[in-house]
Parts: sequence; structure tokens; C-alpha cells
Amino acid sequence: MEVLLHEDLAALSDLDEQSLLESLSQRFRQDRIYTYIGDILVAINPFKYLPLYEKEVSESYKYHEKTKLPPHIFAVADRAYQSMLGRLATGPRNQCIVISGESGAGKTESTKLLLRQIMELCRANSQLEQQILQVNPLLEAFGNAQTVMNDNSSRFGKYIQLRFHNSSVKGAKINEYLLEKSRVVHQDEGERNFHIFYCMLAGISPEDKDMYGLLDPTQYRYLNGRYGSEDIVRKWGEKYSEVCNAMDMVGFEEQEKVDMMTILAGILSLGNIMFEPTETDALRVTNKSMGWLKATAGQFGVQEEELLRSLTCTLSVMRGEAIRRLHNQQQAEDARDSIAKVAYGRVFGWIVSKVNELLAPNVDFDVELSEIGILDIFGFENFAVNRFEQLCINLANEQLQYFFNHHIFLMEQNEYKEEGIEWESISFKDNKPILDLFLTKPIGILSLLDEQSAFPQASDRDFVDKLNSKFKSSPHYEVVRSHSPLFTVVHYAGKVQYNGLGFLEKNRDTIPASIRSLFINSVTPLLSLLFLMQKADDNFNSTRKQSVGAQFKHSLAVLMEKMFVASPHFVRCIKPNGSKLPDQVDNKIVMDQLRYNGLLETIRIRRDGFSWRPSFKEFAQRFNILLIKPDLPLTKESCMSILNTTEIHGWKCGSSRMFFKYWHQEELARLLERLGKA
Ligand code: ATP
Ligand code: MG
Repeated sequence: MEVLLHEDLAALSDLDEQSLLESLSQRFRQDRIYTYIGDILVAINPFKYLPLYEKEVSESYKYHEKTKLPPHIFAVADRAYQSMLGRLATGPRNQCIVISGESGAGKTESTKLLLRQIMELCRANSQLEQQILQVNPLLEAFGNAQTVMNDNSSRFGKYIQLRFHNSSVKGAKINEYLLEKSRVVHQDEGERNFHIFYCMLAGISPEDKDMYGLLDPTQYRYLNGRYGSEDIVRKWGEKYSEVCNAMDMVGFEEQEKVDMMTILAGILSLGNIMFEPTETDALRVTNKSMGWLKATAGQFGVQEEELLRSLTCTLSVMRGEAIRRLHNQQQAEDARDSIAKVAYGRVFGWIVSKVNELLAPNVDFDVELSEIGILDIFGFENFAVNRFEQLCINLANEQLQYFFNHHIFLMEQNEYKEEGIEWESISFKDNKPILDLFLTKPIGILSLLDEQSAFPQASDRDFVDKLNSKFKSSPHYEVVRSHSPLFTVVHYAGKVQYNGLGFLEKNRDTIPASIRSLFINSVTPLLSLLFLMQKADDNFNSTRKQSVGAQFKHSLAVLMEKMFVASPHFVRCIKPNGSKLPDQVDNKIVMDQLRYNGLLETIRIRRDGFSWRPSFKEFAQRFNILLIKPDLPLTKESCMSILNTTEIHGWKCGSSRMFFKYWHQEELARLLERLGKA
């Protein structure tokens, strides 16, 4: 009984940080990694295999009653699915499941388990189901990499939307956010490039290796000589066949696969091209890397001279005249790396849009579809050096935290107030001012970044100076005195110091016209398509290319718009220790996560709050059967008389709707069921 009770920490009577931590770690030591806080699921990464996901378990959670089974990720899937079908509380039919947590906490694993279970629940038509399930391995191969935090770290964010008609799945759509393209050309100590490169090199047949012009993996500079032991190589190889399989299943064509691998091979060769100055002003490719230049041109299907030209000079048009400016060595290396990044980024974007095309629901226009969305987006990051990417990631996390706060705290509190229900006001850390610091127009961090990015002469230092002068008195911003362009943002989850170096360039993310035309003229059909393709999604401004910051801000806004009109479900993933080890809880690490996840405050509000609020009409219509009076007027009085015949306590009656605790819903459902059986 004791253990059962604590499966929902919202029921804990002695509520403080210590007891929360104690209960979670006690359960964790018994391999009970899942715990509820009301209807939020806390999941602690076990870092070991647990027999929790077998067929029988999956079966037992189908249409289950929450209190009868231990907390589980499958229960969240069940709840979302049932709610989408309108079988649980009334509310928006569209559902969104928000999975949060820091790197390595288990978000992606949870996403996969949710997808699997939802597919089980709707007994999907087998081909579509298989296609949907294969999307993850495919995206992981191209978008995940080993980092110091996680051997399979997602280097992009995703929102997977499953589309249903009635109870059956009809299709899926993926939105991806901010692939970390810089990883293609540089990886920090202890980290690797995207999985696909290693998989390809390890898994490809000798004939194909020749065809793609691939050489020994240790030769490639972009892989940093890190390849791995025989054992690891075998695993990469196996993964390669999985990826190829996944591509076949999802519906990629043979030629598309070949083109994709050829482009990847081209990226690897490109990375080995080195430059040296000549006696004149010009720059040349080193003797040793002439072969790589030739190989790259072959793999990209472009003219060698044209490739060389786009590496060694910039062509710009001034007053109708073409001006050629020669690169210095650094500029040539930057051009090389930016070609690699843009090519990889385009391949990834193309895979996602291809998947969306292949999995688009095949239904008539007037068929109304409902949706379950699953958001798996990078957790909060705070490294030794934090760059533009970290700023975007942390902004996304602020936005999610805001959504969470908004949902859990503000909405409830406001509604109680409006309905005249007593409610002691709950204090929580509102992060709206931090969001404003980033997003306000025209003087938020992103707007100032765009403003500076628009000046070709502006430097990263100018940008940081601007920030300093605008925000020096903001409580969420700190000026850093240093020669480097540093600044600190006081985030919801703690202070992060950013290094402004490279911000302007990364935000502009422009592709020189010469590179665009180089690739458009490629004889590799896919490559030419990638550069002809206008980004078809809604965040593309056709007249002028938007900055990366502006695009990201826009896609966040689109995501939020969707999420705010759906019924949310929250999964909070927790990393038990910093060493990826099983059976070990590091109290400080866990406590930090509990604190900045707002979990403690959540317990209180969930325990004291009313999470289900049907209108009088809704409630009376659905439950008048308990009074066996079908013609009961749909009024407040009727609701009260219905409830007074039951033994249910603790509900409240507002001015326009009823207020129930989250467990009342199940009690009522049980009463209906009993009546049905009688
Ligand atoms: P990132 O933000 O870096 O992408 P993440 O939160 O997505 O991190 P995952 O990749 O889901 O983290 O998990 C990291 C690793 O932890 C997995 O590769 C797996 O080894 C282990 N893991 C996570 N969840 C579970 C689980 N439920 N059972 C067993 N192992 C797990
Ligand atoms: Mg992940």
C-alpha cells in the first residue's frame, strides 16, 4: 500500500525537496523508474535493460485504469490516445506530449516507446505502422551523434505528429529544429560526427565503396581520425543495414539512396582539401590534396575548376559589375567548411521532407484528422563554451518551461479566480521576463542580432556591445568584462555564459551565389534538387532569406500555437548521475533537475488543484445517467444532485463549470462502468 500510494507523489503529505528526492530515489533503487506527479510522468533513466516493455506489459496497459497499474510511459500513450478518441475527459481532441530533460535523460528513448505503444493501440495498418516506426532509426542515423553527455545524442529537435481518423492512424508529419550542422566539420574532444558517416564506412560493400570513392576512414579529417575498435565497427556496420532497410521501408528510391551516399562521400573528401599561399597573392590547393579536390568534384558531380573557384574566391556584383575577390587561407577554409555544412544540412532537410511526403495522410480533403504530437527537443545546455546553437536551444527550453508553467500554474489559477473558487496563490518562478529578453521586438536579443547581422561590417564584438548597453540593468542579463565578446543570461535553469564569436555569421547563414550555382549545375540529380528546392515549410520568407534566429523564432511560435490549443501531457526525464551508470543516484545532479524542472511546485499544485473542469452542460449530459433521469436540465443544480448521489468528495462548483481533482475522473468513469455492467 505504501509503495502504491507513492506511485503518485501528488499524494505525498510531507511535501518538500528532500522527500521528493527521497521517494524518487527509493523507487529508482527498486527499478521503479516511473513515478506520477498527478498526471505528469517522471522517468528516471535506468541506464540498463529493464523488462518493462515486453509484449505482455504493452498489452496490459491498453485501455487500463490508471490506479490499477504502476506508472509507465505506456500509460501516457494510452491516456493520449484515449483522450484523442474523446473517451476520457472532454477537452481538445488534439494531444501533445511534451518530453523534457537534459541531454542523456532519456527523451528519445521515451519518444520511441510512446510511438511504439500508440501504434499498438491503434493496431495500425501494418505497412504504415512499419513506415512510421522506421522513421526514428533513419533520423537518428543522420541527426544523432556521440557527445560527452550521451552516446546517442539527438543533435536536432523534432515534433512528430501522428494523424488519425477515428481510431486509426492515417499518416505522420515531422518538424525538425536546428540541426547542429557545425558538427559535420568540427567535433570537440570525446565527441563524434553524425552516426551515418561511421555507419556508411563500416557497412558498405567493397564494390559500393569503390563506386562512391570512399577510402580508409582514418584518412578523413572531418572524422578526426576517431573510428573505433573492431567491435564498434561491427556495430556501425549492422546499423548501416538497418538504416538502408529503414530507407527502403519508408519508401526512398534506390537512386536517391545512391545520391545521398555519394554526397556524404563528397563531404568527407571536401574536408581534406587544404590550401597554401603562393608567391603571388593567389591561393592554391596543396599538392597533397589535389587528389581530394578531384575526388570531391567527382562525388559532387561538379566541374573541378568551378569547385576550386568557389573555394578560393568570392564573386560579388557591385553596380552591375562582377567583382572577384580572392580568399586568404582562412577564408578558403571557411568556404570549404560552409559548403560541407550546407550540403549536409540540405540532405537532412530533404530526408525530413521526403519522409513527410511519403507519410502524408492519404485521405479526402474533407476528412477531419485528429493528432497526437510528440515533442523531443534538446534539453537545457550549459557547456564550458556556449555558442549560438546553445543560445537557440536554451531559448527553446525557456519557451517550453513557459508553456509548462502557463499550463500548470497560470491557467488553473486564473480560472479558479474567474469562477470564484478559493485558491491560495501559488508562487512560482515565472520565466516570461527571460523570454521577453530574447523575443521582444525591436529590442530583444534576437532582434538585435538580426539588426547587427544586416550590417556587413558589424562584428560579433559590436553585437555584444549592443547587448551590454541595452540590457545592462536587466535582472536576467549580466555584462562580462573580457576581451572576448562574452555575455551571460540568467536562465530559468541557471546562469549561462555565451561566447558571441561567430554569432553574426551563424545567424546570417548565407550561401554565396557561386556555391548555389555550383550545386544547381551538379550532374547528381539530388544535389541539384537540394539547391533548387525552396524550403517548402511555412517559415520561409520568399522575398528575402530569413536569418537563422528569425526562422527559429518563427518555428517556435508555430509550435507553441499548436501546443496551446491541444491537450498537453508532460513527461519529465531525469538523469540519475553524470556518468551514464546504472543503479546510481547522484543527489545533487537529480536535485538540480527537480528544481529547474519546477517539479516540486508541480506536486503542490497538482495535489491541491483541480485539473478537470467540465461545463455544467458537458457534465450533466455525460453523467445524468447516474441519476437515471435522461431529461434532467443541463444546469448547475443537476450537476450537484448527480454528484450528491455519489460518494465522491472534494469537487467544487464554480460559476460556469465544475471543478474536479484528477482522480475524480477515474472514480466517475468507474461508476459509469458499474452502471453499464448492472
Ligand atoms: P539528448 O538530449 O542528448 O538527445 P536524450 O534525453 O534523448 O538525450 P536518450 O538518447 O533517450 O537521451 O537516452 C540516453 C541513453 O540512456 C540511451 O541511449 C539508453 O542507453 C539509455 N536509456 C534511456 N532511457 C532508457 C530506458 N527506458 N531503459 C534503458 N535505457 C535507457
Ligand atoms: Mg535525444
